[in-house]
Amino acid sequence: MGREIKRTYRFRVYPNKEQRRELAQTFGCCRWVYNWALEKKKTAYHREEEVLSYTDLSSRLTEKKREEETQWLQDVSSTPLQQSLRNLDRAFLNFFEDRAEHPTFKSKKGDQTARYVGKAFDIREENDKQKLRLSRMPGLVNVRWSHELPSKPSSCTVTKNSAGQYHVCFVCAEEVDPLPRTKEDGLSFVGVDLGIESLVTLSTGEKVGNPRWFENERERLRREQQELSRKEKGSNNWERQRKRVAKVHQRIQDRRKDFIEKLTTRLVEDFDVIVVENLSVKNMQQSGSLAHHIGQAGWAQIVRRLEDKCKWYGRTLVVADKWFASSQRCSECGHIGGKKPLDVREWTCSKCSAHHDRDINAAKNLSRVGQTRIHAPGDLGKPDAFEVVGSGR
Ligand SMILES: [Zn+2]
Repeated sequence: MGREIKRTYRFRVYPNKEQRRELAQTFGCCRWVYNWALEKKKTAYHREEEVLSYTDLSSRLTEKKREEETQWLQDVSSTPLQQSLRNLDRAFLNFFEDRAEHPTFKSKKGDQTARYVGKAFDIREENDKQKLRLSRMPGLVNVRWSHELPSKPSSCTVTKNSAGQYHVCFVCAEEVDPLPRTKEDGLSFVGVDLGIESLVTLSTGEKVGNPRWFENERERLRREQQELSRKEKGSNNWERQRKRVAKVHQRIQDRRKDFIEKLTTRLVEDFDVIVVENLSVKNMQQSGSLAHHIGQAGWAQIVRRLEDKCKWYGRTLVVADKWFASSQRCSECGHIGGKKPLDVREWTCSKCSAHHDRDINAAKNLSRVGQTRIHAPGDLGKPDAFEVVGSGR
């Protein structure tokens, strides 16, 4: 009883000069179409006209291509342009369903993207090497294949980041089987908390991820940015330095992503029930330095990946509300000992004398939330029980 999932695979690509030129033009046209469609939608909204659908915009785009001033839209593949309209649709849907902010105009400065679907791309062999063919692109594009694709991809998104690096993301369908239970009798639980000395702390007592690397890279980023501010804006030196800054950014982002992927895979493999905290912005700010390492966005990403992977592999994710004060409550007896400043790393419970490491205690409390929820749902809502706001969906 496997289920089909869609997974994204990302690779570095190395377009040649001619291909880079073609891509630049495609990116520009995609951005133009996106912004043009967004403008059209906004105007229609303000005039209280009917909402412009994807189909409306698509036929208007066809007209636009015939107009003399915008004929250059015909110079690039039509697929990525259509996909820009799809992206805008998706952005509005996310906005209406409260998952994202209102769509904004795309800028030349941000990451540039173009998505190819259907017959607009495929993978072909040339001189014993697998390469990427894109519609209207001269020649085949070199890809650094860091892993194998499980199936024929359904879409392919090419991006250029501000460091000038190119990547491609393939979406592939894949069949996965739910994982067997980790124990013969009963269930295994793990609480996952953001640590302060480590990136993440588990209720098993394990601290995962040393923040030192992030600290060093952040320091490097700060130095490079300082260097950039000393250069004359727009000069060759400035441009070179700007790329250097962008590369450090990209490296931090890649490393964080890699950390999150590995962590979430391991948690899903090792435990039946995973309990995380529902962190609000306020809580993240309180936790000072760690917010820099993983950050609000990083934590949201961890939770999102756990949601996906729990669904794929038949695990349960419990999202616990913050109110039960995980850092103040003794995980042994439940006594709430009052607020503890961030520099208090260890403490002893005044009621049961249990000695606690701050982060591990918090993770253990989370694990208990899961045990309460899964074994005795009837206890929920009683004054002494831990509250749970979400559950494995
Ligand atoms: Zn206690």
